[in-house]
Amino acid sequence: MGLLWAPWRIPYLRKITRQSKPDACFFCEYAASPKKDKKNLVVLRGKACFVVLNRFPYTGGHVLVAPFAHRGEMALLSPEERGEIFDLLILMERALGTLMHPQGYNIGLNIGRAAGAGIPGHLHFHILPRWNGDHNFMSSVAQVKVIPQALEELHSELQKALRTVR
Ligand SMILES: [Zn+2]
Repeated sequence: MGLLWAPWRIPYLRKITRQSKPDACFFCEYAASPKKDKKNLVVLRGKACFVVLNRFPYTGGHVLVAPFAHRGEMALLSPEERGEIFDLLILMERALGTLMHPQGYNIGLNIGRAAGAGIPGHLHFHILPRWNGDHNFMSSVAQVKVIPQALEELHSELQKALRTVR
């Protein structure tokens, strides 16, 4: 993932390195505000976990799956959370497949800031659709605002796609 060239992430990375207070967790904020799901780009809520679009994506369709609870270690996840994280990853793979027809996916978890976790206190899995040659494509055409402008549209398209795969 680190090989992708994603200049729109720079302001985000600057921001998170400044944020060290534990109350600056947007996962907790989003989890507690279901009425703001559209604004916050929350795609789906399960029983113990939810799915949100990454505002600073590595590729179009980069989503995050996190528990509602603020948990920084895998060992602290309840059996329900463990199961639902996997279920949501599978569901999102299918929805992204229906919507974007990617040729592959990166699915992963960064634990700790040294591993690239932006919000290290709140575990979140990444799922990124990938296409052959997307690295080259992104490098040559990507502008800072290209992907963020498409996020609201992607949010509603993904919700439509989810209705077809659930
Ligand atoms: Zn949190």
